[in-house]
Amino acid sequence: MNRPDILVIGGGIAGLSAAAAVSRHARVTVLEAEEQVGYHSSGRSATMLHYALGDRLVRALTLASRPFFENPPASFGEVPLGHRMPVLVHARDDEREALDALEAELALFASLDRLDARGVHELCPLLKDDATHGIADRNGIRLDPHALLQGNLRELRGRGGELRTGARAAAIDYADGVWNVTTDKGDRFSAPVLVNAAGSWADAVARMAGVQPLGLQPKRRTIITFDAPPDTELDKLPFAKTVGDELYFAPESGRLFASPMDEVPSGPCDAQPDELEVALAAYRMEERTIVKVQRIHSRWAGLRTFTPDHRPAVDWAVDAPGFFWLAGQGGFGLQTSPAMAAIVESLIVGTPWPIPDVLPAELLAARFFRQPA
Ligand SMILES: Cc1cc2nc3c(=O)[nH]c(=O)nc-3n(C[C@H](O)[C@H](O)[C@H](O)COP(=O)(O)OP(=O)(O)OC[C@H]3O[C@@H](n4cnc5c(N)ncnc54)[C@H](O)[C@@H]3O)c2cc1C
Repeated sequence: MNRPDILVIGGGIAGLSAAAAVSRHARVTVLEAEEQVGYHSSGRSATMLHYALGDRLVRALTLASRPFFENPPASFGEVPLGHRMPVLVHARDDEREALDALEAELALFASLDRLDARGVHELCPLLKDDATHGIADRNGIRLDPHALLQGNLRELRGRGGELRTGARAAAIDYADGVWNVTTDKGDRFSAPVLVNAAGSWADAVARMAGVQPLGLQPKRRTIITFDAPPDTELDKLPFAKTVGDELYFAPESGRLFASPMDEVPSGPCDAQPDELEVALAAYRMEERTIVKVQRIHSRWAGLRTFTPDHRPAVDWAVDAPGFFWLAGQGGFGLQTSPAMAAIVESLIVGTPWPIPDVLPAELLAARFFRQPA
């Protein structure tokens, strides 16, 4: 029987970053169902840090996370957690109002350049001529999820914490002040605190523990990679996104990647790309850029898991002692992970609240259970 102080279910970026943070104060064990960390959402993302998604809360969590990515602790090792990549949000004439509104929201978080048609095409020569307006954040960060996962794991292990892979929690019960987790291989783990960081499976884990689920909805998103036109200066290209949620693309390992920003409701699963969204990605790429997608080099899909109000839940469960929610990271789980981990540390261990611009009340799990008066 393994008896840490804190058990974390889920070895994605949420579980590992939270585990690393609380391991400063407690003995921590992470249980991950797969044989490797980051196999699901954390290993399938677009890996950008940018402000053009989510709402004020998500942007505040992102802003608070930036210093960590730019200046990671020495214990993370030598590998940088990302590199600079400008972010360009572009619009046609008929989309200008939406761009103006987004600019006003983003200006609270990032230093932006307003671009005319010429500026847009200087930054991204691949866009068609009808991209006539843009806003650019020259300080976007393309994150390295592998370095991020491994850095957190290194910290966790350096402080005596443990990761068990191939350890799927299959039964959970609470007795005499401790949570008991039995894996599908029959191994038993017990701890007074259980952190539910199971990504798309977080509601399923809650149900297993007899805790009321939040109503999480995983949504599938697809990415394809393909060749850029010859002579494209890939290393100068931005992460380019339409002002509406239609298309984004960016350089990727000597090629381009693109997503049609699909949001197909799904159950928790090993998400696979669907031919329809693969075709849509290629179609939208050709619709908005001068690129011809002649051969799709690779494709993948992953799940972005949302709470009913699209804000994360980082909080103790109200209906079960010692059960902690860390769920609903949607499409922003990498770029907010340092801030969320610091919040977990504060709420579980009692360190000072780390982010003045975010209130604990905004992250309550209980907000989904309030009955109408
Ligand atoms: C296409 C795409 C693009 C994205 N782009 C970005 C982006 O640009 N920037 C950004 O910040 N975010 C982005 N995201 C979102 C980001 O990837 C997620 O928010 C983040 O990875 C969620 O992390 P997680 O740890 O909660 O989930 P996961 O990485 O899925 O980890 C959960 C883990 O829990 C494990 N688990 C489940 N059930 C059990 C069990 N019973 N026992 C043990 N283990 C269990 C799973 O195996 C899994 O490894 C994107 C996502 C996708 C799919």
